[in-house]
Amino acid sequence: MSETIIQNLRTIQQRIKNACIKSNRDINDVKLLLATKTVDANRIKIAIEKGETLIGENKVQEVKQKYDELKNTSHQKHFIGHLQTNKIKEILKYNVSCIQSLDRISLAEKLQKRLEFEDKTINAFMQVNTSAEESKFGVTPNEAVNLVKELANFDRIHIKGLMTIGLFSADEEKVRTCFKLLKSIQQEIIAKNIPNIEMKELSMGMSGDLEIAIEEGATIVRVGTAIFGERIYPDSYYWNEKIS
Ligand SMILES: *Cc1c(COP(=O)(O)O)cnc(C)c1O
Repeated sequence: MSETIIQNLRTIQQRIKNACIKSNRDINDVKLLLATKTVDANRIKIAIEKGETLIGENKVQEVKQKYDELKNTSHQKHFIGHLQTNKIKEILKYNVSCIQSLDRISLAEKLQKRLEFEDKTINAFMQVNTSAEESKFGVTPNEAVNLVKELANFDRIHIKGLMTIGLFSADEEKVRTCFKLLKSIQQEIIAKNIPNIEMKELSMGMSGDLEIAIEEGATIVRVGTAIFGERIYPDSYYWNEKIS
């Protein structure tokens, strides 16, 4: 079991490296985030022991379940799933350093309030729905600039970049269009020079499309299946607001 994970990790690192070479990018500018939904703490530890330092969870419940077992290992934790406002208080208990899925003002308002109460700050990415699929969360590309301007008013939330989930399609050019769109939104926001808004990070690319994402400027790729194997639940389970 651990051999498979270690081998898969090597393969992914090589894929990232090859994509960086192909697009003339510095390998140090692309981070690997382990997408660890449904993966138990012991298997996550195998990757952490091999030097991986960034994990991403989709469900507050799973963050909680794995917290004790992972708290003495060296890693950072991002939240990459849909965050319900009634889970904010809970998620802040477990040392999540960045919420990659900030996609609406109501969530930012409640997050800000709670952070003030606890006298904390948090990093966040704004999630953009670049594929126009209804099943995916995220602000629409048209509303992205307006939302980020509003997010700038929340001083406890430090916006560091953008996140998207590309279209699931075998048509590479359609997938690429999503990533190009995220990059262009990033450039548009940078040009506006909004105080309290940093736009360095682009979190895009998964097991099936990380090369395309890196070619289009990803700074974080989020990889699950290609490292830990197939999951039992379909991804819609994780991207559906009604199930939690
Ligand atoms: C599951 C998940 C991933 C990883 O997907 P894989 O295809 O398993 O690599 C990336 N991002 C998000 C938001 C996810 O939910």
